[in-house]
Amino acid sequence: MAQKDGQGEYKCSILESAGPIYVDRQASMMISRFIWLQQKAPKARRIVCPKEIPNKPAHYGKEFHGCISREEADELVSEADGCYLVRESQRSPGSYTLTMRFGGVSKNFRLYYDGMHYVGEKRFQTIQDLVADGLIIMYIDMYAKDYVDTMMISPAVKAGEEKNLDTDETKEKEPLDQPDAMGKDQGDQKFNVGKRQSVKPSAYKKSHNFKMNTFRGPHWCDHCRNFLWGLIMQGVKCQDCGFNAHKQCSSVIPPNCQPDKKYIRRVFGVDLTTLVKLHNTKRPFVVEACVKEVESRGLDSEGIYRISGFADDIESLKNSFDKDGEIVDLSAYDDINIICGTLKQYFRMLPIPVITFELYNKFIDAAKISSKYEKVEALSKALLELPPSHYETLKYLLGHLYRVAKRKSENMMNEENLSIVFGPTLMRAPESDSLNVLTEMKCQRLVIESLISCQDVLFES
Ligand SMILES: [Zn+2]
Ligand SMILES: [Zn+2]
Repeated sequence: MAQKDGQGEYKCSILESAGPIYVDRQASMMISRFIWLQQKAPKARRIVCPKEIPNKPAHYGKEFHGCISREEADELVSEADGCYLVRESQRSPGSYTLTMRFGGVSKNFRLYYDGMHYVGEKRFQTIQDLVADGLIIMYIDMYAKDYVDTMMISPAVKAGEEKNLDTDETKEKEPLDQPDAMGKDQGDQKFNVGKRQSVKPSAYKKSHNFKMNTFRGPHWCDHCRNFLWGLIMQGVKCQDCGFNAHKQCSSVIPPNCQPDKKYIRRVFGVDLTTLVKLHNTKRPFVVEACVKEVESRGLDSEGIYRISGFADDIESLKNSFDKDGEIVDLSAYDDINIICGTLKQYFRMLPIPVITFELYNKFIDAAKISSKYEKVEALSKALLELPPSHYETLKYLLGHLYRVAKRKSENMMNEENLSIVFGPTLMRAPESDSLNVLTEMKCQRLVIESLISCQDVLFES
C-alpha cells in the first residue's frame, strides 16, 4: 500500500518514475501536491472497545463496540480526525455502521461484508484500509475539489493523448450516408451501391477496454496526468493497451486505443477491430490463412463448410493460432474440414459478431425486400455502416463464399447451403429469445444468402 511504504522513501523516486511524460512545470507541481495531500490526509486510528462484546461478528475486531447509540459513537471518535469504530445499528439489529471522524465531525456509513469490507464500490481486506482510503478520498476532495473537477474535463492534449496519437496522416473517414457511386451493370439495370473510403487499419477508431484496477505504488492518469490517489482501485486500466486513468477521466477519453501485444496474447475471442489494429492488417490473419488454404485445396471438396472436422483437431489448431499467431502451418492439417471448422469457430467466438448487434435488424429488413434492385441498395447502405474492420472481413469472406458456390456442382454447396452454415456464424440476435430461434435462423440465412449472391455488385473489386 502506497502510503505505508514510508513516505520519505518514494518521494524522491516519484518524479523520476514519472519519466519524460511530465513535461510542464505546472503539472509536476500538481502531482507533488496530490502526493503531498495523500500523505497529509488524517491517519486511520481505531478506537478499541475495552469490553468483551457478546455475539461479535467474527469479521470485526476490537473496533466493534456492539449496539451503542449514535451519540455515544460520536463521543468516542471525537478526539481527532481519523478515529473510527464499528457499531451495530440500534434501529435495525444485524446491520452495521462505521463511524469515523473527518473535518471535525463524525460521519456514519452503512458497512457491508461479503468476505471483504465495503461501504461503496471498493472492497477492502481490513476496516483499517477502508478507513485510510476513505480519509484520503475525502481529504483530496476537500482541498483540491476545484482542481479535480477541472482536470477531469480538460481536453486531452497532454501526455496520454500524445502517447496514443497516430502519427499516420490517414484519418478515418466517416462512412458515407449516401451512395455515391454507381455499381456494375446488371443486365440493363444499374445498381446504386455506395463506395467506402479505404482507411489504414492502424487509423481505425477503437475505444479503450477499461477495467477498475488496483495500482501498486504511485501511478498517474495518462489522460490528465495527475496522481491516482487512494489505497486500492485508484482508477481504471485499459486491458488492450495499458492506458491508466481516473474513473472520472475515462468517460471523456476519445476512442484512440492502440492495442499492444504485451496485453493481448490471444487471437480467438478478441474483438475484431482490436485484432486488426494490433496486427495492422485489413482483416484477421486467421481468416486470411484459412480462406487461402481452402481456396488452394478445398473448393471441390464435397460438403465443404457443412461437414465438421474433429473437435480435438479444431481445438488444437485454434490453440496454435492463439500461441504462434501468423506462423501456423496449415498444410500440416490434412483434413480441410479442420481448417473450415476453425474458421467458423473464430467467427463464433467474436465478442461482437461480424454483422454487429447494432445492424442486425437493418440487414434482416434489407434481405426481406423482394425487389432485387431495392434489396441491393438497402444491403449496401447497411454494409456502409459496419465498422471498417468488420466490413473488410465480411467483404473478403463473401468473395470466398461466392467462389465456393460457383463450384457447387463439385462441392454440393450452393448459396443456400452455405448460408445455413454461415448465418448463425456471422450474426447473432442482439436479444436472444429461445422462442424465436427458428425465425431468427431463417432470417439470418436469408441475409447471408442475399449477400453471397449479390456480393459482386455490393463490393467494388
Ligand atoms: Zn486502450
Ligand atoms: Zn485523470
